[in-house]
Amino acid sequence: MTDYPAAHSVDDFRTNLAAVRARIDDAARGAGRDPQAVRLLPVSKTVEADRLRHAVQAGCEWFGENKVQEAKRKHADLADTGVKWAVIGHLQTNKAKDVAAIADEFQALDSLRVAEALDRRLQMLGRGLDVLVQVNTSGEESKFGLTPDDLPGFLAELPAFSSLRVRGLMTLAALSADADRVRGCFAVLRDLRDRARDTDPDLIGPGELSMGMSGDFELAIAEGSTCVRVGQAIFGARATPDSHYWPN
Ligand SMILES: *Cc1c(COP(=O)(O)O)cnc(C)c1O
Repeated sequence: MTDYPAAHSVDDFRTNLAAVRARIDDAARGAGRDPQAVRLLPVSKTVEADRLRHAVQAGCEWFGENKVQEAKRKHADLADTGVKWAVIGHLQTNKAKDVAAIADEFQALDSLRVAEALDRRLQMLGRGLDVLVQVNTSGEESKFGLTPDDLPGFLAELPAFSSLRVRGLMTLAALSADADRVRGCFAVLRDLRDRARDTDPDLIGPGELSMGMSGDFELAIAEGSTCVRVGQAIFGARATPDSHYWPN
């Protein structure tokens, strides 16, 4: 396993961010892609607000959070910084109100019930929200997201929710040491995006592909990722096991 040095000071964050950005740029160039077409979303779950301030000072303008409660707390703690929040974890309808209030992007849309709850709350607030639709590309029971078969019908329903601006798709690959298997998940998402575009480009917006994390973002970029969600390679190894976020 890669080890992930922890970042505390502004300088630590500058170093880690520059290293990750350099790897992103190399992976993009290696795939014949424009490095600027890949955005880096720092995933700040479990990292407390005082350290996040240092990350903001080192240049972070966005943070991704898996859990709504945690996002809400940090949104309040860091309100003065103007940093933006992407919620990247499965949402229950009773938390739609909080996401509508604090998120600048929601990457884990996976049901019409959640779409409806979010849209209703957003209408009340007079806000719109960028959303990505989560797809389960690994076929693992434990992963959230629509099945690839359900995606086209789901996308066709979303224009009814006028506060939601669909920007593309998101996935988590299989947690596997087999690079071909991981890469295969990313290829599935790209293929789904391409087919959605062919069918009706209006339903998929710019067709973003949010895929790739600390352990696999280079493979994701090779398959067309436009947003990598990176936590540990920026902030340091996380003590909380991943099963806390995606049960297995
Ligand atoms: C935690 C998390 C990530 C980042 O994982 P790292 O291993 O810290 O890079 C990416 N996506 C989602 C949905 C996550 O919950």
